[in-house]
Parts: sequence; C-alpha cells; structure tokens
Amino acid sequence: MTADIMMESMYDYFACPSCHHDLAQERSESGHSEDEHLSCLNCRVRYAVQDGIPDFLADPEKEHAEEGIAVDVNNAIALFRREIDPESRSSGRLFDQEVKRTGASFLDIGCGIGRHLLVLRSNGLQNMLGFDVMPELVRIARNDYDLANVFVANATRIPIRNASIDFCLLYNVIEHCKDPGKVLEEIRRVLKKDGTLYMDVPNARSMGDRIFRWGGITIYGKTSHIQTFTLKKFRKLLQNAGFEIEELKTARGIFIDYPQLERFGWLRKIVTFLFGNEVSGWEFKLRKTH
Ligand SMILES: [Zn+2]
Repeated sequence: MTADIMMESMYDYFACPSCHHDLAQERSESGHSEDEHLSCLNCRVRYAVQDGIPDFLADPEKEHAEEGIAVDVNNAIALFRREIDPESRSSGRLFDQEVKRTGASFLDIGCGIGRHLLVLRSNGLQNMLGFDVMPELVRIARNDYDLANVFVANATRIPIRNASIDFCLLYNVIEHCKDPGKVLEEIRRVLKKDGTLYMDVPNARSMGDRIFRWGGITIYGKTSHIQTFTLKKFRKLLQNAGFEIEELKTARGIFIDYPQLERFGWLRKIVTFLFGNEVSGWEFKLRKTH
C-alpha cells in the first residue's frame, strides 16, 4: 500500500469551524469516550466527540437542524435506507467520473446515512470524509455502514482546513439551507486551488418539486425545501460565490419521495406518464474561479 491510498483520519483535516485554527484532541483522565473532545488552540471553543463522532454544531444550529432540515427524521431515514446499496460502485451522478483518483480527498456535505461515501468506498477510495447536520443520520453512517470519517457539522461553518479538499459533493442539500451563498463560500474555502464541487439543485418550477413542497406542507405543515431555484437564479448565485460551470447535466423525470404515498403507486404512474419528461433539476460540475 502506498502512502497515497493509506486511510487518512478526519482528524488530519479538522480545523475550528469558527476561526479555522488547529484543534487539539483531548481526553479526560477517566478515559471514557464521552469525556473526549476537540479544543480550539486559538479561540478555546470545545467540541464534544461522542462514540467517535465529533459534533461541531453550535446550539442555534442544532435548533435549525431540528426545525428546518427534515420534516420527519424517521421518514427521511426510511427513505435513505431504501436508496442504499453498500455494494454499488456507481451513484449515477457526475462525480462517478472521479472515482479512479485514488489519492484524492472527497468531502460529502450533507452525507446523510452515507450513500455517496459507500459508492466511493466500493470503488476502493479511502480518503473521504462526510458530515451532516443531523446526528441521527451520522450515527447510522458510522454504526450501520461502518463509515469511520463522519461527523456532525453545519455547511455554513465547515470544520475543515483551508484548501485541503480535492472534491466536494453537495447533493440534495442547497435547497434545505438558510444561507446558500454562505455554504458555497465555505466550500470555496476548503477546496484546493483546482478543487471541484459536484452538486445538484431541484428545479423549483418542476411538477416534482412543487408536489414535494406541497406534500410536505400538507402532511407536516411545512416543507424541508426552504430555497427555490430556477436555473437563472442559481447561475447568478454561483457567479457571486466564485464558481464556474464546467459541466451541466439536466435531470429529467419526476419524484414523489414520501413513503406514505407508496400505496398510491397508480398516482405516481399517472403523474410520471403526464410529466415524466419535464426538467426535475440540474447537476453541476463546478470549478473555483480565480
Ligand atoms: Zn477557534
């Protein structure tokens, strides 16, 4: 095994999410895992490590995670588990084209229970990290799918060193974020000079996204898609955030992602028949502009 593909620890990448300075790993005398934490050498803020999972969320971010990201955690988990195939070597996404770069570092932002990290691992990649704002999902990624380099953090305050990541993944995330511009700014910071961001965005004008938002409001009284984008609006956001489009893929088809609607399979068929060829969203390969 060469140094290139040696398993790297997420601790080698960590920096304080507030001031970006180095963190020290500390463990109290008693040696229990609940007494482990990371401490910023500059601003002195401490971050707890529980059962091997570092948690970088500030208290207001925890509240946002609960109220805004998923309308129903158990519902989301059931949905995510159905999508997982731990053996799959393909995600069907644009980032699959990079899975031969064995020495490269990947950061999956909003990794959930680990679906993209599992695809990377199935391709033999070792140098990958993932985080999510929802601790429940990160625990499943670590405990059920044995993904080591996962942690809890917010995409507007990424606890990673400047210019240390080759590839960032941001799938099914930006539409859930309060401040999408800040998220892109943070990604720009952690990416290396020639780093790449792969991401997707739903088309707010699509029938699928409208049904998704309408369904969320109908079933839960709120939707988890708090941002809506048209291609024009999103291009503007990218430009302001300092990214240029290297590749753009139009996603077609419709989705209705509510397990409760499964018994209405005929409805899905009718809607797909009527609107199946509409643009449901876009996928991007993005590069930092210099
Ligand atoms: Zn700090």
